[in-house]
Amino acid sequence: MPELAEVAFFARQWNAGMDASVMRVTTHSSARVFRESPAKRIASTLKGQALTEILTAGKQAAFRFSTDIWLGIHLGMSGRLFTDGSRENLAPWAEGDKPPQPTHDRLVLHMSNGTALVFNDPRMFGLVRLYRGDTTPPWWAAIPPALSSPLFTLDVLKKVLDSHPGVLLKSLLLDQRYFPGIGNWMADEIMWRTRLSPHNRVRALGNKEVRLLYKTIREVCNDAMEVVSKSWYPAPDNWLFNHRWKRGGRCPRDGASLLYEQIGGRTACWCEKCQRQIKNYELKIKN
Ligand SMILES: [Zn+2]
Repeated sequence: MPELAEVAFFARQWNAGMDASVMRVTTHSSARVFRESPAKRIASTLKGQALTEILTAGKQAAFRFSTDIWLGIHLGMSGRLFTDGSRENLAPWAEGDKPPQPTHDRLVLHMSNGTALVFNDPRMFGLVRLYRGDTTPPWWAAIPPALSSPLFTLDVLKKVLDSHPGVLLKSLLLDQRYFPGIGNWMADEIMWRTRLSPHNRVRALGNKEVRLLYKTIREVCNDAMEVVSKSWYPAPDNWLFNHRWKRGGRCPRDGASLLYEQIGGRTACWCEKCQRQIKNYELKIKN
C-alpha cells in the first residue's frame, strides 16, 4: 500500500505533464474509483485545462489545473501514477510484483506535450475526485498537518497517546487521523528504530520513550521523503526497510532473523532481539 513517500514518488511522475494541457481523457467509466465523481464529468471538465501544480499530503495527491480545477487522487491499496512511456522501466515494484497492466489503467490524461499521465489501480480501493475552487478542496484541508511540519509538536503527540492508552502503539501509528501518510513499513521502521516491540501498548510508554518516539516519527518521515520519494531504491542498508522485503531477512542492527507476525490485523516485521517489551507491562495490563 503506498505510504507518504511512495505517494510523493508517484505524484512526481506526473511532473512530465506540467504546464501542458489535457487534449483527451480516457477512463474506465464503470471503475469503482469514480464512485464520488463520475468519470464522464472528470473527462469533460479536464479537457483543455493545463496542469499547474502538484501537491501531496499523507496518502493523497492533488493536481491543480487552470481555472481552479482540482483533481484529487487517493491511491488506496494498489494505486500507482506514472507516464505511459515509463510503465515498464519505472520499477518500484515489490519483489514478484508485475509492472502495471494497461487493463488496470482507470484514468489516462493525454497531454499536449505528448505525454500520457496514467492512474492505474488493479484493486480499485483508490478514489478520484474533482473540485472547483480557488483554495484547496475541503477533503484536502481535512488532512492533518504533515508529521515533519512544525505543527506536529511533542504536545500534539502526547495528546494523541493520552487518549488511546489501551491501543497497540503500532496500530495507533497507522491511524490516518493522527499520523497522515504512515503505513505498515513506516510504522515498523519507527518501532524498530525506537527499539520497541510491536506488542507494546501505548500506556506502557514513559516520558523517555515518548520523546524518542516523537523524534523517530519525524526522522522516519524525513528519511522516507528524502530517499524513497526521490528514487525509491536503494535505501541505506542500516534501515529495516531494505531487509524486510527479503525472504530470510535479518536485522541490520544485530543480524537476528526478522519475525513476521500478525499484530493488530497487520503483518509486523520486527526483531525480537533488539526490540523490547517495556518491563512490568503484563502486570499493568492485568491490574
Ligand atoms: Zn535486532
